Amino acid sequence: MPDVRNCKRCNKIFNYIGGAPICQDCKQLDEVNFKKVKEYLYDHPRSSLFDVSKELEISVQQIKVYLKEGRLEIVGSEGNMILECERCGKSITTGRFCNECSKEVTNDIKSTADQMNKSMPKTEEVASKRTNGMRYLNKND
Ligand SMILES: [Zn+2]
Ligand SMILES: [Zn+2]
Repeated sequence: MPDVRNCKRCNKIFNYIGGAPICQDCKQLDEVNFKKVKEYLYDHPRSSLFDVSKELEISVQQIKVYLKEGRLEIVGSEGNMILECERCGKSITTGRFCNECSKEVTNDIKSTADQMNKSMPKTEEVASKRTNGMRYLNKND
C-alpha cells in the first residue's frame, strides 16, 4: 500500500515518499522559485523581501520559508522585522534563532543531557536498594 497523503501546499493527493509532505509538483515549483529568487538577488543585490516577492510573484511567506531553511539570508538590514527569532522574537537574517538563542538552545540541550547523566546513577541506586530490600524480606520468609 502506497503512503497517500494530502500535499501541505496545494492539498492534492500524492504518493508520499519521505521528506517534506508536499507533492512532486510543489517540490519542483519550490526549486524553480528558489532559483528565481537566487538569480534575482544576484542581479539585484540587497533587494527587500517585498521587492523580490512583487517582482517574481512569489509569496512573502514562501520566501520566508527559504530564509528559515537557511537557504537565503537577509543582508545589511538589522532590525528588518521580516524574520524573527522563534525564541525571543528579535529580528534575524536567516534560520530560526538569533545568535544568542541558538547558543542557549544548544546549551539547553547540553544541560538537559548533563542532568540526565547525573540523575541516572541515582535512579540505579534506588532501584538496586529496592531489589536488596526485596531479597532481604524474602530471606526472612
Ligand atoms: Zn502540491
Ligand atoms: Zn533569540
